[in-house]
Amino acid sequence: MLLPPEDMVGHYRDHQGASHATGGSNRGGGESTKKVRSAARQRPSNQAKTGHTLADDTINASMLGEHLDPAGNRTAHSACYTPLGNGEACHSELYRKKRYLQKHLRTFMDYSQEVRTETVFQLLVDRYYADLDAAGLPVGPPRWHYYVHTPEGGVRDVCQHVFLLSYPLSKNTLLRLQKRIIDGCTMAHAKKQEGGVAACTGSVTSNLAMKSLSVIGWYQAYAIQMGDYMPDDDQLIVPRRSRCEEYDEYAAALGDEAAGYKHYCDTVRTAPELAFICRARKLLNFQHCKTCVNLNEKVKQAIASKNADEIKRAKATRAAHHQSTRAERYDN
Ligand SMILES: [Zn+2]
Ligand SMILES: [Zn+2]
Repeated sequence: MLLPPEDMVGHYRDHQGASHATGGSNRGGGESTKKVRSAARQRPSNQAKTGHTLADDTINASMLGEHLDPAGNRTAHSACYTPLGNGEACHSELYRKKRYLQKHLRTFMDYSQEVRTETVFQLLVDRYYADLDAAGLPVGPPRWHYYVHTPEGGVRDVCQHVFLLSYPLSKNTLLRLQKRIIDGCTMAHAKKQEGGVAACTGSVTSNLAMKSLSVIGWYQAYAIQMGDYMPDDDQLIVPRRSRCEEYDEYAAALGDEAAGYKHYCDTVRTAPELAFICRARKLLNFQHCKTCVNLNEKVKQAIASKNADEIKRAKATRAAHHQSTRAERYDN
């Protein structure tokens, strides 16, 4: 199996994420499924992994920025490449309440392994790029921009170490996903025809399941970047855009692997993995942000241009806007 050179992932610095929003949801919620998860695949090692990830000691360590492995070894977050404005390391008060991290990890570990890897893959798509200076010119080589979105802190830039505390995957898996992103793949999992199994878990059988999986992964990443948690709630609210507009972004990102419009809509509405995401009701205040409308428009134009760098830039700019508007709210 091919792994990219260590320095491809290394300890890159980071930034980015997104969101601002407010308001309630109009999501029906609770409808039943179109599951991608295949319970039969839960291997014991997987169960053990979940148990360890959710153990109190592990979570306490994570709150401190430490990775606790099953053998009891602790790895602290060493040099931080994405410190907070006050100089603290990026894990500092990332989850101010332990229960938020517990809830997040429980939700994440409850997904099938396919959904977990696909979600992380989609979170990192378009996140490998050089920083831009004030004039919009690239500074330095491209790097991975990791981020985490918490109910209290909004979107935070974090280092790889801290990203993996929130999205527990092995480093090898992460490297595989990143290599696929750099190679231009649009999903974590290879299709069978592609010589499949090796890619990641190789367990997704049907084409239809693949397509549902692509929607679940993509929509989670989209909501995490564009959405906003309600105060004291675990619901993530995404700004209201037409489903067509959302779908166009999805379809452009997934290319040949994209589900059809109806399948996309059905999956967004019914997948249990997306149940915590709601669309904002019409006419809420944040619907009227002109910058949002402009930046969505720019993303659309970039997609139409089919220029990968332009698409990345347009998405990064939009994400930065969402992240900064939210940061303002938290500072108040
Ligand atoms: Zn850090
Ligand atoms: Zn805005």
